[in-house]
Amino acid sequence: MKVLVCISHVPDTTAKINFTADNKAFDKNGVSFVINPYDEFGLTRAVWMQEKQGATVTVINVGTAETEPTLRKALAIGANDAIRVNAEPKDAFFVAKQIANIVKENGYDLVIAGRESIDYNGSQVPGMLAAMLGWPFVNACVGLEVEGEKAKVIREIDGGKEKSEISVPAVIAGQKGLVEEKDLRIPNMRGIMQARNKPLKVVEPVDAQMRTEAVHFEKPAPKAPVKMIDPGEVETLVDLLHNEAKVI
Ligand SMILES: Cc1cc2nc3c(=O)[nH]c(=O)nc-3n(C[C@H](O)[C@H](O)[C@H](O)COP(=O)(O)OP(=O)(O)OC[C@H]3O[C@@H](n4cnc5c(N)ncnc54)[C@H](O)[C@@H]3O)c2cc1C
Repeated sequence: MKVLVCISHVPDTTAKINFTADNKAFDKNGVSFVINPYDEFGLTRAVWMQEKQGATVTVINVGTAETEPTLRKALAIGANDAIRVNAEPKDAFFVAKQIANIVKENGYDLVIAGRESIDYNGSQVPGMLAAMLGWPFVNACVGLEVEGEKAKVIREIDGGKEKSEISVPAVIAGQKGLVEEKDLRIPNMRGIMQARNKPLKVVEPVDAQMRTEAVHFEKPAPKAPVKMIDPGEVETLVDLLHNEAKVI
């Protein structure tokens, strides 16, 4: 079984987010990048399939050379090989088109992506990819068992879980639950050393028109400073909540 895991290269969750002076782009200065957390769950699930079912796991990123450390980390976690489509991922349609092209060229049985990228939060790529391939698509996937040409999948829904059976090849967009947080793997020294020699292929993008362009980004207004009220001053507290905060 050939599994392709999509890896989005995103700012560390603790990074301070800023935009360029014209507010048209995210400012990468001083920001460290990581594997998109939703992709870590998918990658770990794929590595289990490699260990238990003999699957081969390829990771893919559409990105510039600066994403290679992220792909190397995925290789250190256990992927067999990596593909980088050499392009700035400025638009979800463009990204999906690149991945679809790689899938068509190499023939995979399963594509695992994340539920959303934690930077631009579009949740667009996996659905578009499935549509381009004409494959079944399961979003918010928290359980996955592939048996032959069928996969049993579990999806999180409001207040419960939905179990379905789909045919493979298919696209899955995963999240926590595919594996648990405690199961996520931190690359060890052996993995890091092995990752250096694993294949990382760089391919040029195919033509694909961008569909969207961000014209302006805006940060939320800074929070007002906290006012500390003495426990004895209940009237002051009520007055402030009523007249200043206007919440009662
Ligand atoms: C320099 C720059 C400029 C940008 N400008 C714009 C803009 O003008 N307008 C706009 O709308 N967006 C812009 N983006 C964001 C861009 O559209 C998204 O980064 C990208 O297309 C992913 O889309 P998404 O957020 O829908 O991903 P999602 O669909 O939320 O991601 C879900 C999953 O898809 C997979 N995935 C997503 N991206 C990749 C990738 N690059 N490689 C491999 N797998 C991936 C991962 O598994 C991820 O977990 C810009 C990004 C960059 C880097």
